[in-house]
Amino acid sequence: MNSTLNGYPRWSGDNEPWGAFPKVSLHDHLDGSLRPETLIELSESTGAELPYTDPGMLYGWLSGEITEPPVKHWDDKFALTTSVMQTEENIARIAREWVLEAAADGVLYGEVRWAPEKHTLGGLPLTVAIGAVATGLRQGEDEVSAAGGRIRARQLLCGMRSSTLSFEIARTLVKVYRSWGDSIAGFDIAGPEDGFPIRDHLDATTLLDREEIPVTVHTGEHEGPHSVWETVHLAHAQRLGHGARIIEDVTLNGRPLNTRTAVREVAAAREAGDAVLQLGRTAQWVVDRGIPLEMCVSSNSKGTVVDGIPDHPIDLLRELGFTLTVNPDNRGMSQTNISVEFRRIAEAFGWGIEEFTWAELNAVEAAFLSRAEKDQLREDVLQRIREFSLP
Ligand SMILES: [Zn+2]
Repeated sequence: MNSTLNGYPRWSGDNEPWGAFPKVSLHDHLDGSLRPETLIELSESTGAELPYTDPGMLYGWLSGEITEPPVKHWDDKFALTTSVMQTEENIARIAREWVLEAAADGVLYGEVRWAPEKHTLGGLPLTVAIGAVATGLRQGEDEVSAAGGRIRARQLLCGMRSSTLSFEIARTLVKVYRSWGDSIAGFDIAGPEDGFPIRDHLDATTLLDREEIPVTVHTGEHEGPHSVWETVHLAHAQRLGHGARIIEDVTLNGRPLNTRTAVREVAAAREAGDAVLQLGRTAQWVVDRGIPLEMCVSSNSKGTVVDGIPDHPIDLLRELGFTLTVNPDNRGMSQTNISVEFRRIAEAFGWGIEEFTWAELNAVEAAFLSRAEKDQLREDVLQRIREFSLP
């Protein structure tokens, strides 16, 4: 363990100024958040081949800070992490550690997502894998509770855009939705957007909509407004995973913004005293209905969406009236957690307690919880914000 935060052991980073601020985590991938020490330990029994056996080096390589040895595709790193997540025991351990790390990050309620189909390579039945995550999450909750803290952790099951199994995952989800004490919060569609449109997965999302199981979809990350349009109007998603590229459905002086340059374009136009921003129809729809965006600023700022945090449109989207939440995406692969996201957003855009309170209350409302649970969570979050002060 490298350090502690909020009284819990953790493996990355120093104490963060926003560590004790209460948080709701809506977008974090289990297979992108393994402790490097755990990956190293489990590689011994699973035979996984690691490029480094030093946790710091391995972490640097997973997050892309260390580029040697190169990987053909980012997904190869997830193939490595999921290769050690093929048994009940290992999956439960990693889920348990996810909860401890989230608690250290100040998370009071978290939804962790993962794709069951990536965890059946060793013959594990889908429902057994889902049960293993439920067990691990419960163990983590109990450990936090025994240490005097409180966290509620639930899972989102992902179908993959690039696979044909989303309907099978959705059908399995319908069968086990109420199992393991409501461990499962809902469904997600993840994976590459370009070339794999959501309209290929409407059998899955339609089934879940009819069964009244909430759905979020990765969208507006690798593709622009049309992908968001499909997600909202065809898949009826309750939340947008990322959604950052909805900014391309906003015009500046009549011309559509480009996500990579939007922040600078708007700043330059304002400098020149001539900046009229107007929402397109899809952007307006998302704003007017308060459809929450699961922002993942660090993850987006490594080239996939923008080339640096100052270029991220999060603050522009806030100004335009979007309902935003702050998330890590992959604590390991993106070398972050929500406390780090807060610090980086505060540095880049000057957000403070007011803005982060707004974002966390948005996340409470966006959580796949019942009305009564949200009301309770909101009270908890507000209480802890009242007790919070920056060091
Ligand atoms: Zn994601």
